[in-house]
Amino acid sequence: MLEVSNLGVRYGRHIALQGVSLRVEKGEISVMLGANGAGKSTLLKAVAGIVPSEPGTQVRMNGRAISGLEAHRIVEQGIALVPEGRGVFGDLSVEENLALGAFAKRARGTKQSTLQLIFGLFPRLAERKRQQVRTMSGGEQQMVAISRALMSRPDILMLDEPSLGLSPLLSKELFRSLKTIAESGYGILLVEQNAKLSLKIADRGYLIENGAIAGEDTADNLRHNPAVLSAYLGGRASNAPISTALPIALGDVKAIADSIKNIDRSGGH
Ligand code: ATP
Repeated sequence: MLEVSNLGVRYGRHIALQGVSLRVEKGEISVMLGANGAGKSTLLKAVAGIVPSEPGTQVRMNGRAISGLEAHRIVEQGIALVPEGRGVFGDLSVEENLALGAFAKRARGTKQSTLQLIFGLFPRLAERKRQQVRTMSGGEQQMVAISRALMSRPDILMLDEPSLGLSPLLSKELFRSLKTIAESGYGILLVEQNAKLSLKIADRGYLIENGAIAGEDTADNLRHNPAVLSAYLGGRASNAPISTALPIALGDVKAIADSIKNIDRSGGH
């Protein structure tokens, strides 16, 4: 459904992403794992049309080319982003935040059924519809952020480190909700540092290092891969490169990742 191929992003002279390719299917969760600064947020922002991508990038949604479209048009094509830090409106109530999410044309006429899905997923939001969002806990605010994105009736939901700042128990609950959302037919592209929890619910995993895909496999295989486990010790990404230890055939992509690492080691840019 979402197909990204050869995605590149530059910030001035800094190459943030190079040759990134991935797919997210309906009803499936794909997780993108990587250390700080690897390019995970940039990837989501580029797909969402918030940062421009390099010539040669191809992003297709349900077969339609969407790279280069403005962000609001990408929402209309069925992609919603829950940004890092949630991006909720603290001064507004839960229901006002949700109403803002339903602004997309594609969401008109489906508001009631989406609200039913949301209140089924997060009953606490139904109880607190009129509460000002800034007075809610971090976990509840994350529920509002996800729900607001769902209100645009996306086919693909992208989430940038939704577990950040949440307790282990709340993170577990959140990941369970994401699994239920995927089972309702949404495709999910999840960016995470919490490898343990996210690989448990995901179908597919991608490893990103220095702006390039350093490995990809089924989430189950990655979860049992000792190299991945040691690189993500304690469930959080370390800064150690993992692609060197991965027994996955990576072809050209790995060669690019290795060459970037070699440049880094030699102190070049
Ligand atoms: P984190 O887990 O810390 O959020 P990340 O994997 O999401 O990291 P990005 O935020 O995508 O990484 O950043 C990738 C690289 O691009 C980093 O080197 C970062 O410093 C750089 N970068 C990100 N945003 C900008 C910007 N607006 N201008 C210049 N460089 C940027």
